[in-house]
Amino acid sequence: MGRLDRVAGSHVRMMRVRRCGVDSSTVVEGRHVVVVGGGIAGLTAAWVLLRDGDPALTVTVLEGSPRVGGKLHATTVAGVPVDEGAESMLARRTESIDLAREVGLADDLQPPSTATASLWTRGALRPMPRGHVMGVPGDLEPLAASGVLSTAGLARIPLDHALAPHRYEDDVAVGRYVAERMGHEVVDRLVEPLLGGVYAGNAYEISLAAAVPQLLPIARGGGSLVTGVRGLLDRAAQGPGGPVFMGIAGGVGRLPVAVAGAVVATGRGEIRTRTTVRELERTATGWRLVTGPTSAPVAIEADAVILAVPAAPAARLLRPHSAVAGVELSAIEYAGMALVTLAFRRSDLAAAPSGSGFLVPPVDGRRIKASTFASNKWGWIDRADPDTFVLRTSLGRAGEEAVLQREDADLVADSLADLRDAIGLDAEPIDHKVTRWGGGLPQYAVGHLGRIACVRDAVERLPRLAVCGAVYQGVGIPACVASATEAATDVLAELAKPLARSAH
Ligand SMILES: Cc1cc2nc3c(=O)[nH]c(=O)nc-3n(C[C@H](O)[C@H](O)[C@H](O)COP(=O)(O)OP(=O)(O)OC[C@H]3O[C@@H](n4cnc5c(N)ncnc54)[C@H](O)[C@@H]3O)c2cc1C
Repeated sequence: MGRLDRVAGSHVRMMRVRRCGVDSSTVVEGRHVVVVGGGIAGLTAAWVLLRDGDPALTVTVLEGSPRVGGKLHATTVAGVPVDEGAESMLARRTESIDLAREVGLADDLQPPSTATASLWTRGALRPMPRGHVMGVPGDLEPLAASGVLSTAGLARIPLDHALAPHRYEDDVAVGRYVAERMGHEVVDRLVEPLLGGVYAGNAYEISLAAAVPQLLPIARGGGSLVTGVRGLLDRAAQGPGGPVFMGIAGGVGRLPVAVAGAVVATGRGEIRTRTTVRELERTATGWRLVTGPTSAPVAIEADAVILAVPAAPAARLLRPHSAVAGVELSAIEYAGMALVTLAFRRSDLAAAPSGSGFLVPPVDGRRIKASTFASNKWGWIDRADPDTFVLRTSLGRAGEEAVLQREDADLVADSLADLRDAIGLDAEPIDHKVTRWGGGLPQYAVGHLGRIACVRDAVERLPRLAVCGAVYQGVGIPACVASATEAATDVLAELAKPLARSAH
């Protein structure tokens, strides 16, 4: 009846059974953890399980799409390697850099060649003023010199010192808090584009506690925001220094591929792509995951499960086991956006753009919301082909999903039109690639941390199950790596307990 198969070095017994309407099943000998989702979070969780777990532990990653990496993906445009999704990692948080070193990418870590960004606002490209935290100024001199704000907008800021203290006990939208202290123009022309660069969201809806927690103690204290931000900047100046961001030669998209390689190289890890998990069932010893078409379902047994998928699939899988987790996760919205990567022959450009790129405040009503001059920003792109200049633009943010429906040619034309207005770029690209990221970034709305606390509380009641990924404690790569490490560590601790305590 059963046949013994060898998968990634571990012995896996495949047997046909009929249980709960499922007619085939994979039963794994020894402790077996299944990770659902092969983005950076799921792959990191798998790696940490194998690195820190019992040497007999086996891990299977089930990824619905044809490739691993999720929002991290390296590609080529005009033969030049570029990232199609995330392109840089915050270096002040070391989790993703440590991971890159562990999986053999230490020599490929590279900081940006330039961090000189601009804002395209009020009809001109203006230098990004120094001395701010997520666009909230702590130093008014460079802000005044930049011309980013109107005279009236600039004059409104010092009122912050005179306002009666208002203590925010609860969470508040970043935009509302900053506008109350410093006026709307600071939000619309500074905070909105910077926050939009991370969340592709709306500053008047995004949670201060979840998205800019550094400002929370200032909001709770109720006093001057300018003074509070200046204090943060002074403390940061005394910090360790070094690059704020880091990239990987060949693209940050190489990171999940390297982690997947490390998982498989243990001989105890298997990664299955094109395998969407449709259902999760409790069993006496753990969990059963149902994949495959409804007409021929395939069940996979696991002692423990880690869900490393976005909110909607996590909600669907968890709903039968926790109504609370299902409801709370379903309520989290996502922003979609399109990225247009354009390659130009340098000799076609009157002058190559300078700096790392520019952000565009939505209030200016342009088509693009940012442009990154990839060939300037990343030395490895420039070195790959010095005769080609690569840049990318992004279009769309929360609530603008219609952008994703537009033809490639229209998105390219819009990008070129805005680039012509912003930087005088007037050349035909030699190649382009349009990437649509539907459901790209979870929106951390006001109250997000409370919502996530409810989800975590509900998940903790489910034995040998953990969750991780961008929706929980930060959308950035280091935060995803951190949440995955925590999930794997929790699962290993649970597996170490006697079975009876956590069994169904
Ligand atoms: C365009 C863009 C640019 C970004 N830029 C940066 C940046 O420069 N720096 C930075 O730090 N962060 C950036 N981010 C954010 C960051 O890339 C993501 O938050 C992070 O990669 C998410 O990782 P994840 O593993 O949590 O989720 P994902 O990458 O979404 O991976 C989840 C995986 O689960 C799979 N899946 C879903 N449902 C199922 C199922 N039922 N069964 C099996 N598999 C399933 C999906 O196919 C996917 O591969 C960017 C995001 C986007 C969209």
